[in-house]
Amino acid sequence: MNELEPLIGREESMVTVLDRVRLTVGRFQPTRVGAYHVTCSDEAEWECADAFQRWFAERMLPGLKPGSRAPFRSINLGGRYEPGALAVAESHYAASGSDGITVIVAKINAHVGVVETSEGVRFGHFPRYGQESTCCGALTAALSDEAPIPASAELRETLGRTRLAALNDGETVPPDLRLLFAAVANARLQSRRAVEELTTLPAHTPTHFLVVAGVSINRPGPDTELLVSVDHIDRTDVAAKHATIGLDDDPAAYKVSVDLGRLVLADAQFQPPGFAMHAEIQLSRTPSSDTAAVSDGDPDDPASLTEPLPEIDDAQSQAE
Ligand SMILES: [Zn+2]
Repeated sequence: MNELEPLIGREESMVTVLDRVRLTVGRFQPTRVGAYHVTCSDEAEWECADAFQRWFAERMLPGLKPGSRAPFRSINLGGRYEPGALAVAESHYAASGSDGITVIVAKINAHVGVVETSEGVRFGHFPRYGQESTCCGALTAALSDEAPIPASAELRETLGRTRLAALNDGETVPPDLRLLFAAVANARLQSRRAVEELTTLPAHTPTHFLVVAGVSINRPGPDTELLVSVDHIDRTDVAAKHATIGLDDDPAAYKVSVDLGRLVLADAQFQPPGFAMHAEIQLSRTPSSDTAAVSDGDPDDPASLTEPLPEIDDAQSQAE
């Protein structure tokens, strides 16, 4: 996990994150590699799925059939881990052989949109088809519960009452950052659901599972990713070994800053190096009346950041 640790809590290009995931997998010198990818159904997450396909699946996975290398996937509202999915995925990839070591990467993505205005940026909305809309809409609905969707109950149960209260309290979590923090906590919590299963899952071959949780940041330009946590579950021996590193799941504890235009997140459990040296994000207005109501967004939404985040170039991504 040493290759991934420097990226935790930092906004990076998706290519950078996936390069490091491949590097980490390579350290195990696996005989075979499998993958499971969880994303929200939102079409804004296509870019995340496409990046995973290009920069991981095409380079690491066995051929399912000629010209086709594919991860096992869960695509649902809110990017929820699907209980039992990793057991099925593991059995599929184990079919490609029983010798040597297997590595299975479970990449679990939550997401949040960003709207950039002359005043700055705000998280939780995305300009799509000429209008602002909530993004992630499923998480927005779960925070409010005023206009629930079928996924809301499960997301609310996963987030829990204390986190929901913190996210909906403008004094605890600035409204501008509510959906960013909700996405980070959700990614961490969904990854924990996967890890819980993996510690008892009877693997068919000696297997290292890497559970990589991140938040896709849906931008008008190339999307980026903020890596939240990495869990390593070693199932190469009878007893499972588990190592974890990353941000915790308490949105009330998250602190955000900006380093060269990129977001950096820290909490009591994990601080990216140099966090205290980075520029503090100043929120221009943080009205407590800005509740988590589900809407298609409002261009006059007063929640904004005084320091705009420049668009991040992703030269490698553009080149492909
Ligand atoms: Zn979503």
